[in-house]
Parts: sequence; structure tokens; C-alpha cells
Amino acid sequence: MARYTDARCKLCRAYGEKLFIKGIKCSTDKCPVVKRPFPPGQHGKRRRKETDYGLQLSEKQKAKRIYGMLERQFKKYFKAAEKTKGVTGHILLGLLERRLDNVVFRLCFASSRSQARQLVCHNHAYVNERKVNIPSYLVKEGDTIEIKAKPDTAKRIAELRKVLKDKVVPKWLLPHKDALKGSVKSLPQKEDIDFSIQEQLIVELYSK
Ligand code: ZN
Repeated sequence: MARYTDARCKLCRAYGEKLFIKGIKCSTDKCPVVKRPFPPGQHGKRRRKETDYGLQLSEKQKAKRIYGMLERQFKKYFKAAEKTKGVTGHILLGLLERRLDNVVFRLCFASSRSQARQLVCHNHAYVNERKVNIPSYLVKEGDTIEIKAKPDTAKRIAELRKVLKDKVVPKWLLPHKDALKGSVKSLPQKEDIDFSIQEQLIVELYSK
């Protein structure tokens, strides 16, 4: 599989953004981008001259890495966004956010999107009481998402939620207090995206 599975926070500095690729480190101040918000390496601090194309490409790669997607899948989202009425870049981000694996991550049931994807693939996720094991499943307004897991996994998630208690759950999602459950209050908007991304550059890249 061509998915990038190796790094934990190595790539965060390269993109100057917490990517939450793997592990809990990114959810804490230990993510190296907090202390050293410039690219790694001897010339990391030196401002690189980037071409328009370079900037566009790097924004796209960043978005792909954040959501853990491959080019082919990612482009499908772009095509779908392009066909939808509205600002293509905003619609693209909205679609990515609505992925079930992302929602499980956003609700703090997992420390990274890849861990969230695993919970979904291992049949632990339920949408409106029905099992859904497709990480790319797009949630809708009013959906209820629940994790039903064996006691040891449930315990691990409960502990994780304690660690992540200060993490902000985006306002389009409503975590339920006692169960491993949450619901979709509204569809995500551009302002709900908590990392910096210039989605317009991605649109420009694909529109060439
Ligand atoms: Zn990190």
C-alpha cells in the first residue's frame, strides 16, 4: 500500500502544521512543530523560493497527508466538489471532513485519523445504529455515530478521551457525554477546519 505509514510527527515540521498522522504526540505540545515551526534540516530556516506550482503541489500533498489519502481517491473528491454548486475549495474540505474516519478522530475516539480508520475497518463504528466499516463513508446532518467495542478497546478510548479532554471538538459535531457516541449537528464549513490550508491552491492545481 502506498499510504504513508512510517512517520509520526516527522512530517509535521515539513508542512509546518500538525498532521495527526499517527500516535498521540500530535495532540500534545510534544509535536515538534510547536517548538520548531520551520522545516527540518540544515536549511530549514532559510526561506525557500517556491514557484506557484510548488506551492499548489505542497498544499495538495498536505491535505492528502492530513486525511491519509492517495492521489486517485483525493482527485475523486475534487471532481465531486467541482460538480457541486458553491466554492469548490470549501466543498472539497467539507467532503473530506465528513469522512467517517475523520469524524471518529474529531470526536476524540482515536488519537489519529489512521487509528480512527482502523476502528472503522474493524467493525467498531455504527452510524444511526447500523454498522459501517467504510472509512470514506460520508456522514450527514443528524447522523449519530457510535463506537461499539470490546471492553479493552472501549477502556482504551475512554482513557484517550481523558487525555484529550481539552481538545476542541468542532462545533458541527456534538459529542455525547457518557457513551462513545456523537452526532452531526450541521455540515462542516470552511471555518470549522482547524488547520491552515489554502484550498484555493489545490483547486488551481487541478484546474490547469
Ligand atoms: Zn505532529
